[in-house]
Amino acid sequence: MFEVNLMIGGKTVPASSGITFERCNPLSGEIVSRAAAATVADARAAVDAAERAFVEWCQTGPGERRTLLLKAADAVAARESQFIKAMAEETGASPAWGNFNVHLAAGVLQEAASMTTQICGEVIPSDQPGNLAMGVRQPAGVVLGMAPWNAPVILGVRAIAVPLACGNTVVLKGSELCPRTHGLIAEALNEAGFPPGVVNFVTNAPADAGAVVEAMIAHSAVRRVNFTGSTRVGRIIAATCAQHLKPVVLELGGKAPLVVLDDADLNAAANAAVFGAFTNSGQICMSTERIVVDARIADEFVSCLAARASSLPLGDPRGKEPVVLGSVIDMATVERCNALIDDALEKGAKLLCGNKATSTLMPATLLDYVTPDMKIYREESFGPVKPIVRVNGVEEAIACANDNEYGLAAAVFGGDIARAYQVAKRIESGICHVNGPTVHDEAQMPFGGVKSSGFGRFGGRAGINEFTDLRWITLQTTPRQYPF
Ligand code: NAD
Repeated sequence: MFEVNLMIGGKTVPASSGITFERCNPLSGEIVSRAAAATVADARAAVDAAERAFVEWCQTGPGERRTLLLKAADAVAARESQFIKAMAEETGASPAWGNFNVHLAAGVLQEAASMTTQICGEVIPSDQPGNLAMGVRQPAGVVLGMAPWNAPVILGVRAIAVPLACGNTVVLKGSELCPRTHGLIAEALNEAGFPPGVVNFVTNAPADAGAVVEAMIAHSAVRRVNFTGSTRVGRIIAATCAQHLKPVVLELGGKAPLVVLDDADLNAAANAAVFGAFTNSGQICMSTERIVVDARIADEFVSCLAARASSLPLGDPRGKEPVVLGSVIDMATVERCNALIDDALEKGAKLLCGNKATSTLMPATLLDYVTPDMKIYREESFGPVKPIVRVNGVEEAIACANDNEYGLAAAVFGGDIARAYQVAKRIESGICHVNGPTVHDEAQMPFGGVKSSGFGRFGGRAGINEFTDLRWITLQTTPRQYPF
C-alpha cells in the first residue's frame, strides 16, 4: 500500500490533524493508497509557502526555470514504471495508457521549459513625446491547479508546468481517486530541485473538497486558478472564483462528435473512432462520445467499426496479458453506463457489440440508431459505451454535431478535404481534427473548449497569456509637458 503525504514548503508532511483517507482498487476493492487528508489550515499553509517562495522565484531568469523544468521532465520519465503501477492500482488504467501519460507529461514539462524564453512583451507606439511604452508580461503570483484522475499524469503536470515556466509558484490539488499518482508528480518535481515552496501538493478527503478548495481560492496570494474536471464541479469553482474575482481556466466535460461524411475512407474513420471511443475505456474528456455517420455509407462503416470494437482485449490491467480496456474508475460508472444502455434499447437503439457489465471490467459497447430522445445522445458516458447517430447529408451532420451542450474536441472524416474542412470550421468546439481522431493532445497546442466544456487554454503561447499579468509600463525619456 502507498502512503501519500502533503508537500508544503519543500517538506513532506502528514495532515496537521493526522487524518488520512483511503483509495481502493476499483476492481478488487483492496486498499491501495492511504493519503493525508489536508485540513483547511493545511491548504492555507500550502498557499502561504507558495506566497513566500514567489518573492525569489518570480525574479529567476528563464535559464534557471528551464533547467529545472527539464530536470523535472527527466524525473517524471524516470518514474514511468511507478506511475504505471500507481495508475493501474488506483484508477484501473491499462499500462499503455500509463505509458502514454508519462511520455506526454514529460513532453509538457519540456515544452514549458522551452516557453521560458518566449514570454515576450511589446513596445507600443505612444502619442506622448519621448515616452517609451511597453506591454510586459509578468508572473501573476500563486497558481492553484486542480487535476482529475482520468489522465492523471498529463493533467496533473499540465496544471502546473506553464504556470511555473512563467515564474509563478504553485499548489497542485491532487484527485482523491489517485493520490499516489499525483503524489509522484510532486515527488518528481521536488527531486528536480525547485526551491522549497515553489511547488506544493495537497490531497484532501472527498468530503472536505469544497472547504479546502474554497479556502485556497479565497486566499489573497492565489492569483490564478485552473481546474480540470466535470462541468458540475466546474460551475462551483467558477462561482467561487467569481466571488473572489480570481481568473480561472476551466477544462470540463465533453461529448466529442466524430462525423463520417459520405466520401470518407471508412477504414481510417473506423480506426479513429475505435481509438477515440475506447482508449482508457472512454474516460477521456476528448473521447469520441457521438459517432455521426452519413446514412449512405452507414451500414458498411458500422460493420467495420463493430468488428474492430468487439476484438479489443479487456481485463485486469495488473495481469500479464496486454489489455486495451482495463477497469473503469468505479461502480458508479458501470451503473451510469448500464442505465444509458437500458434507456437507449428501450427507445429503439440497436446493440452492435458489448453489453451491460456487472463489474468494473466493461466491454467496448456500441449502440446504433441512436436518436435525440435517448439519454446517451446528450449525456457524457465517460465509459466505454458510445452511440452512433445516422444522418442524411452534410447539413444534418453539422446540426447533429452542434446539438450539444459541450464543445471540447471534434473530428470530421471526408475524402474531399476542402469540404471536410468547411464542416470542421462550422462545428462548435475548441478543437477539431480533419481525418484524425477526437483524442489528440500535444503540449504546444492551444487546448480548451467552448460552451459547457469551459474556457481558457492550456498549452503554447495561449498558456502564457493565461498565467501572466500583462502590464503597461512606460519610461518618460524627455521632459513632460503638463496643461497646468
Ligand atoms: P470531478 O469534477 O467529479 O472531480 C474533480 C475534483 O473536484 C475532485 O478531485 C474534487 O476534489 C473536486 N470537488 C468535488 N466537489 C467539490 C466542491 N464542492 N468544491 C470544490 N471542488 C470539488 O471530475 P472527475 O471525476 O475527477 O473527472 C472527470 C471529468 O473531468 C469528466 O467530466 C471529464 O470530461 C472531465 N475532464 C476534462 C478534461 C479537459 O481537459 N476538458 C480533461 C479530463 C477530464
